[in-house]
Amino acid sequence: MARLTGKIAIITGGAAGIGLATARLFKAEGAKVLLVDVQQDALAAAVAELGESHASAVVADVSDPPQVNAYVKAALDRHGRIDVFFNNAGIEGSVHSIVDYPLAMFDRVMAVNVRGVWLGMQAVIPAMTKTGGGSIIITSSLGGLKGMPKMAPYIAAKHAVVGIMRSAALECAPLNIRVNTINPSPIATRMIAAIEAGYAPGAPDKAKARIAAGVPLRRYGTPEEVAQLVLFLASDESSYCTGTTFPIDGGMSAA
Ligand code: NAD
Repeated sequence: MARLTGKIAIITGGAAGIGLATARLFKAEGAKVLLVDVQQDALAAAVAELGESHASAVVADVSDPPQVNAYVKAALDRHGRIDVFFNNAGIEGSVHSIVDYPLAMFDRVMAVNVRGVWLGMQAVIPAMTKTGGGSIIITSSLGGLKGMPKMAPYIAAKHAVVGIMRSAALECAPLNIRVNTINPSPIATRMIAAIEAGYAPGAPDKAKARIAAGVPLRRYGTPEEVAQLVLFLASDESSYCTGTTFPIDGGMSAA
């Protein structure tokens, strides 16, 4: 039997990268998915690929409270419940030292990566509570457990969501809602390509080679590999896991 049969899942940042790979795997494992993203065309393409009987989409900016309430309402109107919430949307910001980092970019990174995760928790927890529980997976980063130069706002945001996860896990355990973070790095998506370009303008391959050389497994992970971890945390197989960070980083956190 499939591992998510009959489950309803919201995936933010579902139009691309890790979110879309997870949507594909969730569908294959029997879930219905509601994809949330700011990229309207990519969302439409994802729904067309997955099929309307398995997937639907809401265009929403996760940092905006009415739009967050709208995607949660859409899930409840369509399916009557939310079993899995993959709270995943995020942006990398820019690559600058702390003294040079633009304040507007700091604010935007915090708005999407912290406020967006926070608003999703506030809207989804009551819905999950009403239907007896569920699993929430927040996408942090290896940068939520360790520092990195020139990306301090991103690193701070990814640390912040570990704090949200730990508090939520304690608050939500009596409600039968499990809450965990995944802590990936580096994964082959648009985001890591943008980070490479930020570290080595005009020569991203140099940054890529340097980053990959720092991974004990000597390569980037794939979104599909991350999706397998998300599937485990979404499924009943992880029924005793809550309040925990789950690095998926080719061994980087061992150093
Ligand atoms: P990605 O850029 O391919 O996907 C991110 C998705 O989030 C995009 O579809 C984007 O449109 C969406 N998004 C951005 N801002 C949004 C907003 N305000 N509201 C709704 N959707 C929004 O990158 P990815 O690597 O798949 O990133 C997914 C998550 O994984 C992010 O939280 C990221 O920080 C995290 N992460 C990625 C890596 C990596 O190496 N790629 C490592 C650690 C953590």
